[in-house]
Amino acid sequence: DADELFAQLREKLSPRGNMVSEAGRARTIALFGEPLTPQEVVARICGEVERDGLSAVLDYTEKLDGKRLGEATLRVTTEEFATAHKAADEGFLDVIRQIRDNIHEFQTAILNQEVRVTRDLGPGQVDLRQRYVPVKRVGVCVPGGAAAYPSTLLMTAIPAMAAGVEEVAVIVPPTDFGGYNTDLLATCQEIGVSEVYRVGGAQGVAALAYGAGPIKPVDMIVGPGNLFVALAKRHVYGTVGIDSIAGPSEVIVLADDAANADYVASDLISQAEHSPGSGVLVTWHKPLIDEVYAALERQLARLSRGDLARQSLEAYGALICVADENEAAEWTDRLATEHLHISTADPEAMLAKVQNAGAIFLGHHTPVALGDYVAGPSHVLPTGGTARFANGLCSNDFLKRSSVISYDADALKADAPLVQAMADKEGLSAHRASVDIRLGGK
Ligand code: NAD
Repeated sequence: DADELFAQLREKLSPRGNMVSEAGRARTIALFGEPLTPQEVVARICGEVERDGLSAVLDYTEKLDGKRLGEATLRVTTEEFATAHKAADEGFLDVIRQIRDNIHEFQTAILNQEVRVTRDLGPGQVDLRQRYVPVKRVGVCVPGGAAAYPSTLLMTAIPAMAAGVEEVAVIVPPTDFGGYNTDLLATCQEIGVSEVYRVGGAQGVAALAYGAGPIKPVDMIVGPGNLFVALAKRHVYGTVGIDSIAGPSEVIVLADDAANADYVASDLISQAEHSPGSGVLVTWHKPLIDEVYAALERQLARLSRGDLARQSLEAYGALICVADENEAAEWTDRLATEHLHISTADPEAMLAKVQNAGAIFLGHHTPVALGDYVAGPSHVLPTGGTARFANGLCSNDFLKRSSVISYDADALKADAPLVQAMADKEGLSAHRASVDIRLGGK
């Protein structure tokens, strides 16, 4: 049954169930004294931050991250940025600069441009525009609970800056992977981000949305995070804009007989090592299944995060043989994966058949890691099948559009009968009067 198989595959590609572990549940009871759901935890934290501001933020930071901060230690100081920058490895900073320039180049090139339509109505002139202006103040969530992610800072803050966002405020947990991480703070310095607060989780998201002490409210919150960050973004949506609710990483590799089994295995493992993360091979070349399986075994045995990746692949991986490339495209579109790698003899031809994927990597020499770190498009991408309707983060997400409409007197006269007819039909007499009064009527 195709629908049943699809449901199983969707489950495999989207390891959501893994996000609240037994240990997580036990921690919630220890912290809150009752078995609250993650949604209840987040609603409670956000509600208290909205009501009590900074004191709630500092209390939750102590409770959840084990750090008692004050107003002076919450925000990273100019001296701390300078010290981190000095301590950072020069080679690393050079890498950051190159990547910064790549991201900036791409994100600037794709920016929407104002569109203008002029309409000639006899002697009258109509001027119509679609104008784009940046959001004024943006909050960026950078994770820091389990690992340091300078790449996430680059992939979120630079698109915002390329769009012309004036103020970028970063929140990151007060950990050695986060607000005390030399590489992360040096990266901030290198790209010109100077407003960084050592706060993570739901309390950080709520502080950005509602404001808390020195943290002024933002207009929009972007960036990935764990379940609590994701739920908090959902909670504050409406008060502020958000990018999307990102879940665990996933990749589908589409491969034919031209694919290299070792390369394919490495692509599956590189998403699985996020742990949880998922990797699915879809091929119409049957021998590839055994070849990739063997390559997975070889590579998992020698990688430092091999055990984590193995667990993830056992739970959320699949090697699937389909009839042909059309069936492969059908499955890919239904699954709407975050990353799609096309490893075929003619990747462009396959690309033309596929509609839904967050980011697409073409050919044997384009591992997903290039998009994760270096190429230019953001690695913040839609997961969990949402690529059917959602997009990866980009500079245009930080632009708001307004329509601009301008008529001269003759154009108003020319279009007046249309307004009058519609206003009469809908019974909105003041609408009609606003035209009549300008035409010399009452
Ligand atoms: P994080 O930094 O997003 O969140 C840590 C915070 O969560 C803590 O500071 C704490 O305040 C809060 N928290 C933790 N346990 C809690 C509990 N029981 N109750 C209430 N709050 C709690 O966390 P992380 O662990 O570093 O996770 C980051 C996630 O983001 C990972 O899943 C990673 O794979 C993902 N990620 C995604 C991308 C992407 O672009 N898609 C990039 C980098 C990271």
